[in-house]
Amino acid sequence: MPYDKYETVIGLEIHAQLSTRSKAFCGDDASFGGDPNTHISPISLGHPGTLPRLNEKQVEYAVRLGLALGSEISLFNAFDRKNYFYADLPKGYQITQDRAPICIGGSLKIRVGEEEKTIRIHHIHMEEDAGKSMHDSEEPYSLIDLNRAGVPLLEIVSEPDLRSAEEVDAYMSAMRQLLRYLDISDGNMEQGSMRCDCNVSVRLKGSETLGERCEIKNLNSMRYARRAINYEVKRQIGLIESGGRVEQQTLNFDPASGVTAPLRDKEDAHDYRYFPEPDLPPVVLAPEYVEKIKQSLPALPWELYHRFQQEYGLPEYDANLLTQEQPAALFFLALCQHTTNFKAASNLIINKITPYCNEKGIGIDAFPAGHPHLAAFIQLIDEGKVASAVAYQHIFPVMAAEPERSPLEIARSLNLIQTSDENLLEKLVDDALAGNPAEVERYRKGKKGLIGFFMGEVMKASKGKADPKVVGKLLREKLG
Ligand code: ADP
Ligand code: MG
Repeated sequence: MPYDKYETVIGLEIHAQLSTRSKAFCGDDASFGGDPNTHISPISLGHPGTLPRLNEKQVEYAVRLGLALGSEISLFNAFDRKNYFYADLPKGYQITQDRAPICIGGSLKIRVGEEEKTIRIHHIHMEEDAGKSMHDSEEPYSLIDLNRAGVPLLEIVSEPDLRSAEEVDAYMSAMRQLLRYLDISDGNMEQGSMRCDCNVSVRLKGSETLGERCEIKNLNSMRYARRAINYEVKRQIGLIESGGRVEQQTLNFDPASGVTAPLRDKEDAHDYRYFPEPDLPPVVLAPEYVEKIKQSLPALPWELYHRFQQEYGLPEYDANLLTQEQPAALFFLALCQHTTNFKAASNLIINKITPYCNEKGIGIDAFPAGHPHLAAFIQLIDEGKVASAVAYQHIFPVMAAEPERSPLEIARSLNLIQTSDENLLEKLVDDALAGNPAEVERYRKGKKGLIGFFMGEVMKASKGKADPKVVGKLLREKLG
């Protein structure tokens, strides 16, 4: 199949569940889980006569996201009903924003390999989630859990700017990272707090017009999204190459078989019979309200990513790792209040503190030792008091276990302070040379790399406590 002739075009509709305490239009608990059908009141159940009331947090969170993405914030916000029948939608309609979404435009930058690319946002609107149906093919009935019904959602609709499954992955990851930085959604795909519909089409390379698209519904893992897109692209190209044409459809991806299959032909928008929600008055935002939210935004991931490289001189690799999750980035900033060796601080976080916290299943902000002690740990190495390998291996674990003890005191009590006492070191160097006459011979004949071997011998003899600078100097003197 001449796949290379074609370009893939993808637009994403991401649904992000907001981490508000209560639901979008009533006070029911909006948290994930709970015994089935326990987070429900007559409003979540859509009983006749009940009325929705807007959760202000949903508006605030939408504005936060819009401002972070550079969207225009609509001050006038109205709600609409999207009508359809399904057992997990007790009202028979979903409250959404069809005519006037709260955020318009904006963009998010993604990095794929070396390349940076801007993905434009079409709009973001507020809506509510439906309940959850569980269909078991073995049983003649389905189960419905309405805990999720009415949980606030933002739907983030991108322009068709994505060109591959890798770009979709990068975009989803960047959006998830942003949602978490803004503290408005946990972005947890396994729990369904973040799901996406992928609109996929193909066109001949160089073509300016968009191909006919199919929409793959409700992908709730990055791995599935990748597989679904790659399968769908091949299917569409195969269809076109064999003389057929792609028809606009809504598809389901079945992870077990790895194929997409039609769920339904694409309904026209008017099939949902959208109309203004009569039970919710429009919400008009004051410009000062938006401004106040703008002032409260945290440092954003891409800002920190650049700052860590420019201001703190970190390599791109470190900046990327440290900004993945906000707590690690903040930890780095806090540690740098106490040390000027920023690269050492980064190494310590990436190589020791993060793995330690992952293993213990705690957040980095719960790491036992405080920033001043960690800075003192770095200083201990920088001043040549303890070799870094020794410090990492022997002092760090004690600091984590007994955080009130200072690294210097730990080093002393474990007898790890490096010695630069020349008399003692000279004796160790002499022993090393005397014990390895053949190597000394080879060194003098030009195998200068053997200096590392002698260094190792002295280190071993000193149990890691010899100051490598002094040992190096002595070795070079004596070897001539
Ligand atoms: P609908 O409202 O029917 O879901 P929209 O026009 O709002 O359709 O588009 C939904 C998503 O589909 C957007 O993310 C958009 O970028 C994407 N999209 C639209 N046309 C195409 C296309 N031809 N190929 C890929 N994605 C597309
Ligand atoms: Mg759609």
